[in-house]
Amino acid sequence: MRAVVFERYGEPAEVREVADPTPAEHGVVVRVEATGLCRSDWHGWMGHDPDITLPHVPGHELAGVIEAVGARVTGHRPGDRVTVPFVCACGSCPACAAGDQQVCERQTQPGFTHWGSFAQYVALDHAEVNLVPVPPELSFATAASLGCRFATAFRAVVAQGRAAPGEWVAVHGCGGVGLSAVMIAAASGARVVAVDVSPAALDLARKFGAAECVDASAVADPAQAVRELTGGGAHLSLDALGSPGTCAASVDGLRRRGRHVQVGLLPSPDGTTPVPMTRVIALELELLGSHGMAAHAYPPLLELVRAGVLRPDLLVTSTIALDAAPSALAAMGSAPGQGVTVIEPWA
Ligand SMILES: [Zn+2]
Ligand SMILES: [Zn+2]
Repeated sequence: MRAVVFERYGEPAEVREVADPTPAEHGVVVRVEATGLCRSDWHGWMGHDPDITLPHVPGHELAGVIEAVGARVTGHRPGDRVTVPFVCACGSCPACAAGDQQVCERQTQPGFTHWGSFAQYVALDHAEVNLVPVPPELSFATAASLGCRFATAFRAVVAQGRAAPGEWVAVHGCGGVGLSAVMIAAASGARVVAVDVSPAALDLARKFGAAECVDASAVADPAQAVRELTGGGAHLSLDALGSPGTCAASVDGLRRRGRHVQVGLLPSPDGTTPVPMTRVIALELELLGSHGMAAHAYPPLLELVRAGVLRPDLLVTSTIALDAAPSALAAMGSAPGQGVTVIEPWA
């Protein structure tokens, strides 16, 4: 099969022929019809993810058709349309037993712990726990965007963030996950303040339901701008980019007893970042993380997509072939781009 491979961190990846994967006993091989290009792939390529070993094939936001199933897989057949959460769970550890597959103790992540979906085929473990059927009316490109960014934003806003109608929700960073969060928070009845340094990203945020926008490149203190627009601060705020600046601004833009959810990965190798803890104490803020979403939590999301309340299809702004993936991957660092780019490995 053809796949995007890199041999060294931060040096150009290339498209080449590699061996086709085979399914584990409990796993499947999926023919990849669409796979999203995500900033997490760029972090992996830059060497920020300790799970990656070289040479490596990135890609974790995929949808496709089951090509082969392992001997112990009974619930899925070749030909089934499927997607997966980017966190693939083991199904048997204490976290999985509690229903928290998104923080599984023995998780695998395609494109991080093993070769991913910037390829014509990808192997996925523990199929019974992780595969999500893709309804026929959902395109593969749209389904691919669910696995990481849209599902992550859904859990961050709805489950972890507990967004309620009438609340102010600030979203710092309006790339793929941020725009997803804007759309989901607006659909939840919240009033959304979108924050980004790109006017084009803010235009998209407005289109997807943001009531207010803050151009962080044009104001001295984005958090203060959020507090002014929201009459004292957001009830819920997300760092959807993942940087020391957006993390701190998200916490600083909250009102008393507000909730911050960290969604974007932090780029330093150890993931540590300064947080204004004085404000956390004085205002009794909550700090939360959000790490994907378990496969069993997808049905309510898919129902909102089917009903047209949520439109992840609108987030897909470009579709590229596998040959264009290496340069697009490299560009994610300096220009994360507007919306979601989807790679079609068979195009
Ligand atoms: Zn587990
Ligand atoms: Zn992703």
